[in-house]
Amino acid sequence: MGYHAWFQCFNDDCQEKYQLNEIIYNCRKCGSLLEVKHDMNALKDKSPQEWKSLFDSRQRTIDFPYGSSIWGKKEWVLPEIENRNIVSLFEGHTNLFRAERFGNTIGVEDVWVKMCGNSHTGSFKDLGMTVLVSQVKQMISEGKPIKAIACASTGDTSAALSAYCAAAGIPSIVLLPKNKVSTAQLVQPLANGAKVFSLETDFDGCMALVQKLCGEESIYLANSMNSLRIEGQKTISVEICQQFGWDVPEFVIIPGGNLGNVSALGSGFMMMKELGLINRLPRIVLAQAAQANPLYLSYIKRFKEFHPVQAKKTLASAIQIGNPVSVYKAIKALQQFDGIVEQATEEELANAAALGDVCGMFNCPHTGVALAVLQKMVNRGIIKKADRVVVISTAHGLKFSGFKTAYHQQAIEGIDCKYANLPIEMPPDLHSVLEALNKIK
Ligand SMILES: *Cc1c(COP(=O)(O)O)cnc(C)c1O
Ligand SMILES: [Zn+2]
Repeated sequence: MGYHAWFQCFNDDCQEKYQLNEIIYNCRKCGSLLEVKHDMNALKDKSPQEWKSLFDSRQRTIDFPYGSSIWGKKEWVLPEIENRNIVSLFEGHTNLFRAERFGNTIGVEDVWVKMCGNSHTGSFKDLGMTVLVSQVKQMISEGKPIKAIACASTGDTSAALSAYCAAAGIPSIVLLPKNKVSTAQLVQPLANGAKVFSLETDFDGCMALVQKLCGEESIYLANSMNSLRIEGQKTISVEICQQFGWDVPEFVIIPGGNLGNVSALGSGFMMMKELGLINRLPRIVLAQAAQANPLYLSYIKRFKEFHPVQAKKTLASAIQIGNPVSVYKAIKALQQFDGIVEQATEEELANAAALGDVCGMFNCPHTGVALAVLQKMVNRGIIKKADRVVVISTAHGLKFSGFKTAYHQQAIEGIDCKYANLPIEMPPDLHSVLEALNKIK
């Protein structure tokens, strides 16, 4: 078939190339991030219709590894990897559902939520991790001296890394900011047998340290500055179009922290457009927590400059990042997609998540950020009543039971929890239950 992919320096003035089995995260010439590039001419050997039929035919098959939504698009992801080295937990194929009642409540008719958290470890991080860990397994099989894979994490990357490493039998090391990840997120890597280091710092501190740790060739870096992860995550866009019968929504709203996922989203749409599977692009809206909003601050200055910030504590802990590694990739993507950046305060994100829950969802706080931003876009008339909007839900709400409990106990300082709902305690008799029901009416 002759499909081929390689790493290429993201800096347009440099564009240095490297092989995918090199242990490299930044360009050796200029220090920029790398991207995975594909031989697009080779991929044009199939017509758009042939690609669509191929991807559709593989959906959920048990023919390994194509039943995974990532590896069902293997030719677009890592065309040259040997199937026996693929580490897959059948990720992807997450549900995309129409949030009709939520939409009606806020004044839009065609809102859809892409449940990327309904996956093996409960967040979209699985989509990229299957690609990275598979490529490492391939490199180990070729004799590369990799002994372990490491990451810094706000909780979900470490969960995904440790699960895929455990499945592959490769040791994993995770660096977490102490007391800044949820209990579930801490237990996940512990359960999967990772070496977990809990550090007196924030995510940005862990990120700086893990890059030094991975200066050693024997420890491979799994953060999203490693563009192998982006290759897996970009299939989110392909899946969305596929689920709409190869149609494109008007808007996609996505919460962002380190800003790898928004770059991935853009990259998936661009690839489909270039290969003719779609003929237009959506507008992308990047949603940030106001407590950790460096890209928002840059956006309001039309991206003329970017300054890292000290991220403040936010309920949306997975995006509490002040110095996002993939910021320039994100800016490029947003410029290509007529992008918008908007922010949500703690109260806005908490109440938007809860309003979604009241309408049948069970949102993580990051999805709350995206839903709050959707409300703002609707109120401002940027998103119109009939526009088709997809909200990317990044993690499963059950990972964040602490956030939800605090919300319903109205125990989040400074926030008016509009939809708080607590159990009513009473003796176990019918009379008491009926009396309580009457009071509610
Ligand atoms: C990682 C993560 C994000 C942010 O993704 P980036 O690629 O870092 O922008 C958002 N939500 C959740 C739940 C995450 O785990
Ligand atoms: Zn370079």
